[in-house]
Amino acid sequence: MAADSQCTRCGTCCRNGGPALHQLDRETVVNGFIGPHQMITIRKGEPVINPITGALAYYETDFIKIRGRDASWTCLFWQDDEGCGIYSNRPQECSLLFCRNPGPVTEIMGRNFLTVRDLIPPDEKILTYLERLEHECGYPEVFNLIQKLNTSDDHNNISAQLTHLLQKDISIRSDFYDTYSTISNWELFILGRPLFKVLAPMGYRIHQGENGPSFSKDSDSDLNISHSDPE
Ligand code: SF4
Repeated sequence: MAADSQCTRCGTCCRNGGPALHQLDRETVVNGFIGPHQMITIRKGEPVINPITGALAYYETDFIKIRGRDASWTCLFWQDDEGCGIYSNRPQECSLLFCRNPGPVTEIMGRNFLTVRDLIPPDEKILTYLERLEHECGYPEVFNLIQKLNTSDDHNNISAQLTHLLQKDISIRSDFYDTYSTISNWELFILGRPLFKVLAPMGYRIHQGENGPSFSKDSDSDLNISHSDPE
């Protein structure tokens, strides 16, 4: 068999980002090979870089992926000296992924995602914090307003609405921390990334001014989700 027809476990794919999890990965999580503190929810409508294609993607559903490490998207389980730390229990995407033949993994991308609601019973109070984020400051509303911010003359009003949404996101997370201080490292698994962290690489920020906080876009920023500082 030619050398370039086999995965050499060089780790390039693992450094580009941990895998999204699919329904077939549920048992791996339930059996404890991947813990809540090692996963992150990407929420419906949240912009994210597809690590296989490098393209910006938005999905119509939540999904879970493996967290990054060292302020990057490098998979948490990648060890520079030893390779994958959960190789015999690696997720489905990792089993299918071969950089010289991405066909099999692209077949499953965007399908049968595993979500936090597949892992936590629906009546658990902890899910109410995710529901609050979705209803009170969801991505569809945020990006609808950002689109208006870029095209409307009513800048101050739209900026105020966006500021309110970002503050709401922070407030809900603060409530989560107050209630679940002993498992605060589940925040990214239950709630995903804070809005301000997702929007900052795109140049959108809250500024503290004399008249209170306001929302703005850096003048030299284009739509750009950096691979860096994901969490
Ligand atoms: S789980 Fe293992 S094989 Fe998959 S991206 Fe992470 S380090 Fe690589």
